Amino acid sequence: MAQAGNSELVDAFEQFFRNYCDNEVKQLAQQYPNEQRSLFIDWQDLYRYDPDLADDYLNQPEQLQRYAEEALRLYDLPIDVSLGQAHVRIRNLPDTESPDIRDIRAQNMNKLVQVRGIVRKATDVRPKIEEAAFECQLCGTLNRIPQSTGDFQEPHECQGCERQGPFQVNFDQSEFVDAQKLRVQESPEGLRGGETPQALDIHVEDDITGEVTPGDHVSAVGVLRLEQQGNQQEKSPIFDFYMEGISVDIDEEQFEDMDITEEDKKEIVRLSTEDDIYEKMVASIAPSIYGYDQEKLAMMLQLFSGVTKQLPDGSRIRGDLHMLLIGDPGTGKSQMLGYIRNIAPRSVYTSGKGSSSAGLTAAAVRDDFGDGQQWTLEAGALVLADQGIAAVDELDKMRSEDRSAMHEALEQQQISVSKAGINATLKSRCSLLGAANPKYGRFDQYEPIAEQIDLEPALISRFDLIFTVTDNPDEEKDRNLAEHILTTNYAGELTTQQEEMTSLDVTTDEIEEMTEQVDPEIDAELLRKYIAYAKQNCHPRMTEAARETIRDFYVDLRLKGTDEDAPIPVTARKLEALVRLAEASARIRLSDTVEAGDAERVVEIVRSTLQDIGVD
Ligand code: ADP
Ligand code: MG
Repeated sequence: MAQAGNSELVDAFEQFFRNYCDNEVKQLAQQYPNEQRSLFIDWQDLYRYDPDLADDYLNQPEQLQRYAEEALRLYDLPIDVSLGQAHVRIRNLPDTESPDIRDIRAQNMNKLVQVRGIVRKATDVRPKIEEAAFECQLCGTLNRIPQSTGDFQEPHECQGCERQGPFQVNFDQSEFVDAQKLRVQESPEGLRGGETPQALDIHVEDDITGEVTPGDHVSAVGVLRLEQQGNQQEKSPIFDFYMEGISVDIDEEQFEDMDITEEDKKEIVRLSTEDDIYEKMVASIAPSIYGYDQEKLAMMLQLFSGVTKQLPDGSRIRGDLHMLLIGDPGTGKSQMLGYIRNIAPRSVYTSGKGSSSAGLTAAAVRDDFGDGQQWTLEAGALVLADQGIAAVDELDKMRSEDRSAMHEALEQQQISVSKAGINATLKSRCSLLGAANPKYGRFDQYEPIAEQIDLEPALISRFDLIFTVTDNPDEEKDRNLAEHILTTNYAGELTTQQEEMTSLDVTTDEIEEMTEQVDPEIDAELLRKYIAYAKQNCHPRMTEAARETIRDFYVDLRLKGTDEDAPIPVTARKLEALVRLAEASARIRLSDTVEAGDAERVVEIVRSTLQDIGVD
């Protein structure tokens, strides 16, 4: 810490305020205390003003914040107001002080750090007592006890009459502050290879409570503290980190971590103009899975997605595509879903049963997180996958609470929760890729397939595409599949036993052929960038020719399939689905127009899925 006296540090902050945030301080003075109670300062500004002071702030945040708040109270203001309880809140730390949540270590303790992630849980905001005024019922003396530790501290004896009470808390004379607990989890795009996201709890107080909702991407600055694990009876030597939050800002930016270099861009544009780009795309999804070319193409379209539209009347049409794979067990559905993690810029993979109490959508619960007192709102998979893709295996096993919330989540792309005084709307602007088994575990060939899908029609109609997979013996297909699996399993060994291979009885050509079968055409890293680039830069519009193709197909479909009792009725939603799919197809070429070819490509996919289900 710089060798400066306290008053010099207070002076330094006063100078800093004058130079960098004079207007902000004056505004605070006008709004204080009802509309605003904090002065937010940017660490980068402080660094520019005085690098030593900024560094001290990182290492001794508590003291420095006190000096800064002292300077605020002494600040020369044009109006007569005392900023007695105003806070100084620092934000925007350098990258060097922004560890990944999983990299937080004991050395970060009591230091100022910044973490980025997505809010997974938030309790409701409740008053927390900071100083309790106990009134002695015998003599009336007020005994003030600060409540800094976790447990509620009561007086041992009255300071006035030295008797042991009884006492009663006088609320008017006590001091309360609004308090809230948040759990921030690592963002889905930061995780590679299916790592489990780690989380950090953040305690916030006063004016920064109630500002974020589960599902928000945030940057939080605060001081790391320790909390002992275990309970009162059995304390553990292991401690947990939590953060005393100083500022929590919502990050609007998407895909910010994806640095697409000029070189990447060139490569992406080059690929996009190749004649066989669609084949290349198909060959880049789950190459170890044999067949499923249409499903793979559809998954690729889903990754690129259509264009979200805001209509003049304020309504919104989603661009995200929802897709369902439903089929016999052991047909590679889970494998295909799992592969999405490798190539989606932002994805969440889960099972219908859900791994948390929030399941797929969201939940308001009263659990340990809110110490059993406060209600906690928790975001489920579809919220955590906001602006990305949610791969949900065993969708048919989802909980009944999720079933009803799913309708809104898939179409309006938001989830409303109103329970126990919590009224919140969580964003779920994601694509859903679901896998499910048929009603009886496997398809019964004597019953219509559509009747064996164990989801209600309202939910089914929200899927843009439904693929059904039956596992019937077919000699040629089985032979090819067997050949493929036997080869790819061998190729897996190849990488681990490269040297030994030379001693085996295989030719270089054969080795090459094996690796070719499992190597994706476009490697995952580049594909991720390709998708992010296309979604950011490319907003294709329909040409007249494409419009005509889709219109004709739709009218034809309606003529054939308007049977009211049909399990999969053809509604106007199909039309929107066709538009989205065609836009996604244009995006793969990085084209700003949807051509007839795009429309034909997607009409063919939709036609074949409907035929499988038996609509045609
Ligand atoms: P599901 O989820 O449909 O029940 P899985 O994805 O768990 O099936 O697949 C079971 C196993 O069979 C996996 O090891 C998978 O790799 C293999 N498998 C199934 N179908 C194929 C296929 N078409 N190509 C390659 N492997 C397959
Ligand atoms: Mg499975």
